[in-house]
Amino acid sequence: MPELEKVYTPGVVEKKWTAVWRGRKVFTPDAGASETPFTIVLPPPNITGSLTVGHALGTTVQDLLCRWKRMKGFNVLWLAGMDHAGIATQKVVERALLEEGIMKGGLGRERFLEECWKWKEKYHDRIVEQLASLGASLDWSREVFTLDPGVSRAVREVFVRLYDKGLIYRDRYIVNWCPSCKTAISDEEVDFVETHGKLYFVAYPFADGGGEIVVGTTRPETMLGDVAVAMNPKDKRAKALEGKMLELPLTGRKIPVIFDEAVDPAFGTGCLKVTPAHDATDFMIGLRYKLEAVVVIDRDGKMSAGAGRFAGLDRLEARTTVLAALEEQGLLRKIDDYDHAIGHHDRCGTAIEPYISRQWFMRMKPLAAPGIDVVNRGEVTFTPERWGNIYLSWMENIRDWCISRQLWWGHRIPVWYCGDCEGMIVAVEEPKSCPKCAGSKFAQDEDVLDTWFSSWLWTFSPMGWPEKTKDLETFHPTSVLVTGGDIIFFWVARMIMASLEFMGEIPFSTVYITGIVRDAKGRKMSKSLGNSPDPIDIIERTGADAFRFTLMMLSPPGQDVMFDESKVDVGKHFANKIWNAARFVLGQEPAPVRAEEGATGAVPGATPGPEPAAELHESIFGAAVTAEAAFDWEDRWILSRLARRAGELEGYIDSYRFDEASRTLYDFFWHEYCDWYLELSKAAARQGGARARGAAATARSVLGTAMILLHPAMPFITEEIWSMLAPLRGVLANYRFPGIPERFVDPALEADVEFFKEIVTAIRNLRQSFNIPPGRLVSAIINCEKGRGLPARLERLREQIRLMAKVDELVIAEGAAKPSGSVVAGLAAMEIYLPLKGVVDIEAEKKRLDKDLEKITRECEKIEGRLKDARFVEKAPADVVEKERNRYNEMSDKKRRIARILEDLG
Ligand SMILES: [Zn+2]
Ligand SMILES: [Zn+2]
Repeated sequence: MPELEKVYTPGVVEKKWTAVWRGRKVFTPDAGASETPFTIVLPPPNITGSLTVGHALGTTVQDLLCRWKRMKGFNVLWLAGMDHAGIATQKVVERALLEEGIMKGGLGRERFLEECWKWKEKYHDRIVEQLASLGASLDWSREVFTLDPGVSRAVREVFVRLYDKGLIYRDRYIVNWCPSCKTAISDEEVDFVETHGKLYFVAYPFADGGGEIVVGTTRPETMLGDVAVAMNPKDKRAKALEGKMLELPLTGRKIPVIFDEAVDPAFGTGCLKVTPAHDATDFMIGLRYKLEAVVVIDRDGKMSAGAGRFAGLDRLEARTTVLAALEEQGLLRKIDDYDHAIGHHDRCGTAIEPYISRQWFMRMKPLAAPGIDVVNRGEVTFTPERWGNIYLSWMENIRDWCISRQLWWGHRIPVWYCGDCEGMIVAVEEPKSCPKCAGSKFAQDEDVLDTWFSSWLWTFSPMGWPEKTKDLETFHPTSVLVTGGDIIFFWVARMIMASLEFMGEIPFSTVYITGIVRDAKGRKMSKSLGNSPDPIDIIERTGADAFRFTLMMLSPPGQDVMFDESKVDVGKHFANKIWNAARFVLGQEPAPVRAEEGATGAVPGATPGPEPAAELHESIFGAAVTAEAAFDWEDRWILSRLARRAGELEGYIDSYRFDEASRTLYDFFWHEYCDWYLELSKAAARQGGARARGAAATARSVLGTAMILLHPAMPFITEEIWSMLAPLRGVLANYRFPGIPERFVDPALEADVEFFKEIVTAIRNLRQSFNIPPGRLVSAIINCEKGRGLPARLERLREQIRLMAKVDELVIAEGAAKPSGSVVAGLAAMEIYLPLKGVVDIEAEKKRLDKDLEKITRECEKIEGRLKDARFVEKAPADVVEKERNRYNEMSDKKRRIARILEDLG
C-alpha cells in the first residue's frame, strides 16, 4: 500500500504533478471532440512583467473554472499566449541598453528589434514557469505570441479590411504626445492627475490702441502660438468686440477676436486664448475657423522655432521666461491658485503634450454600435453587473482611436509608399509593383500599430483567423473572459467590437471582472509602494494550493481583495488538515471491494444499490464494496451533507461566488467530515468486522469525492492524495466527475444529527468545565420536550452519543427528573443532566465556583462603575466604550451561569 509522506511538502508534490500533467497533455483538447466546448483565452501577460498577486488572482479564477468544467465533461481550451507589449517593452529594452551605454538610435531599427526578441525569449520562459507554479492548466501546445506570423497576418488583414471600409484613415491631427517616449498615444493611455497649479491672467491689448482683453490660462508658454481669442457668442461683451483685432504680446502678431460655443463663459475671464497646435479644444476651434496652427513646442517638449526668441527652451523653463517677460511689460494682471487635472502618460508619468502630427486613426462609432447592442440584449453579460454600465457609457461616447505609434517594437503599419510616384498602397503583403506607375521601389510606413491592435483580435486571431480552422469552429465564441476592470476600454470593449466585425459573433458571453488586490491598509498593491509581495515567494513558502485557496476565500464578488500574506496561513492550515485526514483514512484497513480494483469502465451507477455509501464508492472508484460491509446512519448523514455541499458548490461556481465556494468546501471538509464523520468512523472501526469495513469504505469514498470537489481550487494536494486513493483511475486533472445523486440528501436525518451534535458538544463542554478526565465515563440524562417524539428520534443515535461523549448510562426520556448534584445544559428542545456525584469532588467544585463567582462579581461592578461614569462614556472613543459594554454583558452571562450551576449542585 503506498503511503503519503508524514508531512506535506508542497514543493515536491507540485513539481511532480506539473510534469505529469504536461507529459500526458491533459490540458490539450481535441478540436474534433464531441463534448460541449468551454473556452477561456488567457489575457496575454506582457513580456515585460512578472507575476503579481493580481495576476495570481485572475489566473486562479480562470484555472478553477477550467478545471471544474473539465471535470464536468466539457471540452476545455484555456488558450495560452503572451503580449509583445509595444511601448512597455521598448522602454525597458531601451533602458537596459542605455545601462550598457548603447543608444537605441545608434543601434538602428533591425539591431534594436533583435535586442527586443532576446528580451522576449528570456522573459517568456520566466512567465511560463510562474504560471506553471501556480498550477495553471493552460494549453501551451496552442500558445501564441502577439508578434507570431499568424497573428501578424491577421493584424494586417484587419487593417486592410477596415481601411477599405473607410474606417481607418490617416490625418494630421492633434494627438496625445509623450515628449519622453516620443510617440503618440491613445486617449485611454492618458492618466489624469489632479494637480495644484496656477491660473495666469494676461492682458492682450487691442491692436488699434486703447483697451485690452484679459485671458486666463494655465499654460502661458503656449501663448506664443495663439492665433485668436475666443468668446462665447452669448457673452454680453461679445457684440462690442465684433471685428476687433488684438496684438499678441511678445510676438507683435495681430490676432482676431472670434466667437465660438465651445468657450466656457464661466472659466477665467470668459476669454479663451486659441492655440490650435497645442490644445485639443483649440484645435477643433481652429478647424472651424480655418485658423493657422502655429507650432511653438516640438516633439521633444522644447520650444520650437515658432517660439521666436524662446526657441530651444524646455516647455517649463519657457513658462517662467514668458511670465517674466509679460511681467516686465506690465501685462501680467494676476495669478490665482488653480487645481486642475493634467494628463500624464500612463507608462512613464510624463505630462502629455497635445501635438499635431500625421497619424493613423480608426473610426469607432460604426464599430461600437453592434457592441452596444449585444450588451443591451444580454448576449454579453458583465459580472459584477455595474461594469456593464461603465462599458456602455464609454461605448456611447467613443472617440476615434489613434492607432499609430512612433515606435519600433510592434506590428509595422501595412502601408507602402511608392518610391517613384509617391502613391500609397495599403496591402496585407508588400506590393510587387505600383498599380499607378508600375514602379517597384517601396518604403513601408515607419510607424507601428498600438499594441492593443493585436490584442483586440485575441479571441480569434490565435485560432488561425482569417482561415476557417477547426479550432475556430469548435472553440469560438469563447465562454468567459476573466480580467481586471482597468483594461475594460483598452481591451474588453475592443475585443467585442473586433469579434462582431470580423467573426460576426460575440467573442465571449460573460466578462468576469476580478477585484483589485489591496494591502491590509486598503492601498492598491504597487511596486513603488513596496507593498506587493512576490507570489513566487508565497508559493515557495506555503505551496500554490494554500495561496490559491486563500485568494478564492478573500474574493467577494464585486469587491476588492484585501490581501495580507499572513492570511495565506488559513490555506496552509487547511492543506495540512487535508493531508492529515487523508493519511488517517489511507492508514485504515482498505475497504474490501468485490470487483477487481482497476475496473475503469462505465460507472455502474444506473442500478442504485440500497446504500448510498456503496453506490458512491462504486461510482468514484469504479469498484463495488463487498456485501460484508455494514453501514449506519453516520454514513448516510455524511453522504447527505456531501450531496448538499456539492450542489451548493456548483451553484456558487456558476455564479462566480468563489468566496462562498471555498467556504463551503472548507466547512464541509474540516467541520463535517473531519470533526464529526471521521471521529464517528473511529468508533465504528473499534467495533471491527462488517461495520468497520463499511465505515472505512465511506471514509474513502467521501475523501475521494472531496478531492474531486477541492481539485479546481487546490489541484496539487488533491492530485497527490487521489493518486494514493485511486491509483488506477488516472489523473484527477482529467477525471470526469459523474456528480452525486440528489436523492442522497436526507433532511430528516440531517435534522436529527444536528441534535446529536448539540448533545455531544453540550456534554463535552460540561465535562470540560468540571475537569472530568477524558477517559472517565459519566452517566447522562436527556430530558426531551414533550410531544415532539424526540426520544424515538434520538434512540437510533444512542450508541454514537455514548461513544462520542464518553457516557456509560444514557437515559433519553420526556419529563425525566434531574438527579440532585447534577449540572445542566439547556438546549433548544431538551435539557441534559450530568450527575456529578462520585465523579468529581462536589464540595471542592463548589468552593472553586464560589471563588470564581466572587471574582467575576467584583469585575462586573468595576465595569458597571465605569459605564455609569458619564465622562468616560462621552470622552472615550466609541469602540472602547463598546468593548466595555460587551465585556460587561459577557461577565454578567458568566455570573448567571455559575450561579445556576451552584444552584444545581445544591
Ligand atoms: Zn511616455
Ligand atoms: Zn508608383
